[in-house]
Amino acid sequence: MMLSRKEFLGLTGSSLLGVSVLKAFTALHGGGGLSTKSSGEVMIEIKTKRLNLAHTWTISRNSSDYKDNVFVKIEKDGIVGYGEAAPNVRYGENAELTTKKMKDALHIFKENDLFHYTDIKEALDSAILKQSCAKAALDIALMDWVSKALNTPLYRMLGLNPAKAPVTSFSIGIDTIDVIKQKVREAKDYPILKIKVGKKNDEEIINAVRSVTDKPIRVDANEGWKDKHEALEKIQWLKSKGVEFIEQPMPSNMLDETAWLRERVDMPIVADEAVKTAADIPKLARAYDGINIKLMKSGGIQEALRMIAIAKALNMKIMLGCMIESSVAISAGAHLAPYVDWADLDGNLLISNDPFSGVKVNKGRFVFNDKPGLGVSGTF
Ligand code: MG
Repeated sequence: MMLSRKEFLGLTGSSLLGVSVLKAFTALHGGGGLSTKSSGEVMIEIKTKRLNLAHTWTISRNSSDYKDNVFVKIEKDGIVGYGEAAPNVRYGENAELTTKKMKDALHIFKENDLFHYTDIKEALDSAILKQSCAKAALDIALMDWVSKALNTPLYRMLGLNPAKAPVTSFSIGIDTIDVIKQKVREAKDYPILKIKVGKKNDEEIINAVRSVTDKPIRVDANEGWKDKHEALEKIQWLKSKGVEFIEQPMPSNMLDETAWLRERVDMPIVADEAVKTAADIPKLARAYDGINIKLMKSGGIQEALRMIAIAKALNMKIMLGCMIESSVAISAGAHLAPYVDWADLDGNLLISNDPFSGVKVNKGRFVFNDKPGLGVSGTF
């Protein structure tokens, strides 16, 4: 087969919000038609977009009013796949480094048939060792593209039954007591809440929530409790308040202390900051009852599927969480929800300028459309 290859790589700065705009076009001309043979030109566009939060978002370690997420579009044979990276300071990520990682990996998409997405995942695993959200964006866009090319929703391509997706929780960030009460009232349509704690006034926060609702609540300390005795007392108290499970009570590196805690409490302990990819899971099994998978930590959909398989083999519970993300990444997560025990996919509901629409939530239940791929529409 005769190949001619053209490559355009251009970098332009955008004055808008001071973010950089990177457009990279790669071209690969090959013989053959469409079907499952990758043929025409691959075009990839990467751009940072600022997502504004409806309320200032505070967890135990930081506060923010906006997030700069990096979006990617992979286009080939007239089919467009969308992906998104939500860089997180906890993991040393930012939009600039993420963009660079994505740009450096673009050659993988012109050297491989896009239908061979497992090959592309392996290559991305080698190329992107940090800034896992960059890998996530590329993998999400790839899986959107492939399922669109096969003209099927992603969940169907993966053999998943959307009716089995668990109800998603809605997160209440740390705030003043009056605002927390107000947020809980505003969340009346969500049957399950996830409450952020990990500061000094945890009891005050939970009492405030309980003063306005008796619905099921889950609690996330975001590594906020540094002493195992303190954590034990807090969890025993939370149990008396009808809390379903506790997420990352202690710092991720305090595995022995968390295992100690687990022997003494009657509440599932879920790892979040302690787990990124499948390789992290086996060592956590003695200290945690479950894991919180996030596409931004795993590096995308394909690694999340591996994590689900490993966690199931270890008889651990599985939660699917998110960062502050638009409907692109949230929809990608929702397509995997039928495979997990708990869903916490509300990042798009916390922003006021979502550039996309996709999987919706109605009273906590995901509403999938029957469009191919992620089922998202919009642009960036
Ligand atoms: Mg968490």
